[in-house]
Amino acid sequence: MKTYDIVIIGGGPAGLAAAVSARKQGEESIVILERDKELGGILNQCIHNGFGLHTFQEELTGPEYAARFMKQVEELGIEYRLNTMVVEISSDKVVTAMSRRDGMYQIRAKALILAMGCRERARGALNIPGYRPAGIYSAGTAQRLVNKEGFMPGRKVVILGSGDIGLIMARRMTLEGAEVKVVAELMPYSGGLKRNIVQCLDDYDIPLKLSHTVIDIKGKERVEGIVLAEVDETNRPIPGTEEFYECDTLLLSVGLIPENELSAQMGIALSNVTSGPVVDESLETNLDGVFACGNVLHVHDLVDFVSEEAATAGKNAACYVKNERMKSGISIPIKAENGVRYTVPSRIDPERMEEKQIVRFRVGKVYKNCRICAFLDGEQIISRKRPVVAPGEMEQVILKKEWFEQPPECTDGSGHELIIRIEE
Ligand SMILES: Cc1cc2nc3c(=O)[nH]c(=O)nc-3n(C[C@H](O)[C@H](O)[C@H](O)COP(=O)(O)OP(=O)(O)OC[C@H]3O[C@@H](n4cnc5c(N)ncnc54)[C@H](O)[C@@H]3O)c2cc1C
Repeated sequence: MKTYDIVIIGGGPAGLAAAVSARKQGEESIVILERDKELGGILNQCIHNGFGLHTFQEELTGPEYAARFMKQVEELGIEYRLNTMVVEISSDKVVTAMSRRDGMYQIRAKALILAMGCRERARGALNIPGYRPAGIYSAGTAQRLVNKEGFMPGRKVVILGSGDIGLIMARRMTLEGAEVKVVAELMPYSGGLKRNIVQCLDDYDIPLKLSHTVIDIKGKERVEGIVLAEVDETNRPIPGTEEFYECDTLLLSVGLIPENELSAQMGIALSNVTSGPVVDESLETNLDGVFACGNVLHVHDLVDFVSEEAATAGKNAACYVKNERMKSGISIPIKAENGVRYTVPSRIDPERMEEKQIVRFRVGKVYKNCRICAFLDGEQIISRKRPVVAPGEMEQVILKKEWFEQPPECTDGSGHELIIRIEE
């Protein structure tokens, strides 16, 4: 069985940035396994612009952004295998993969980087009554059909869910000549970035109906229309608020789920909130030498942050192989409280953390004129004023290593206590 120092599962932006970073640390033996016929992941179908403002200070399309990393992978001579599906990973890092060319085979990894991205939540998860007519697509499938395969899914469109992919597709379908009648959102706020609401809905006069959902799909062979209703605080449809929209297509943009079947199988602890692995400051999971980055870890709104995070995973995987940066044995859990739903990482080793450690998180609802606060052993170390924070936009705090150099002041012997919370 061939052994590689680092095996990376997934050749999307996360896998590519992790590979480049590991190679720049001097790591020679790396392979990327990608099930698709090309590298680049989901970015290959995101042909709109807006990518790369942080990483390259330029506005790129998705394929252009991915190409920058693919070029580096080529130039650095990093090995990758396309059309290669990873079907199993054992807890001792033996990867079982298959491809049409090589059949089924196994490779051993000294360190593993999980970068499998995420998938879209499908209609089956929503319990919408009605037949199973043609014309119901996930927004990502519609994006692929329009942008890569040259097919129009339909002409009169309703979109359920106002996450970024739904918003982007509202504009895309309009530009391709379809009539987007409405975007409906179950929650009282949008799940997407503010800039996408302005640029994709407001600029095209597409209505956004918050606190609304689809309660019926009409049509047996093909979608003929949908019934929309307002929902109450418990998300139940309010009788008497039903409205019929004639349409031939319903696009669903109702959430992304990190692809962690392989991770769960190999014994990686997953967060109940993100459905991604629980990781420490090095983005290492509970299994030694197994790292995670990108959308498999938690769903990102900007690919620039995916690349940045993946570079950290790649660098730390390379250090792990070289036996650098051993664990100190101290692990400080980060408690997410009062509006903060989760944090990545969720624990830090004060010796291994960078001088400046970024901690990313999402909030559970919209807060106006609030503060993002962090407390170490009861003492406030961060208090940042924010006019508005919303679940659709990822937030972050930066922890300084020097804050952890003092021994913990709590007396129960359990070590430092770190809390991140929203204060109104
Ligand atoms: C449909 C969709 C549309 C999106 N549109 C936008 C957008 O317009 N703008 C934006 O900023 N972000 C968008 N995103 C978010 C975007 O996914 C992230 O910013 C970024 O692409 C995440 O990178 P990643 O490498 O983690 O995941 P991905 O880009 O999804 O890459 C994961 C890769 O892993 C591979 N893989 C998975 N499982 C296996 C396996 N078992 N074996 C081998 N290979 C495997 C996949 O084939 C894929 O290539 C979109 C996401 C989705 C799902």
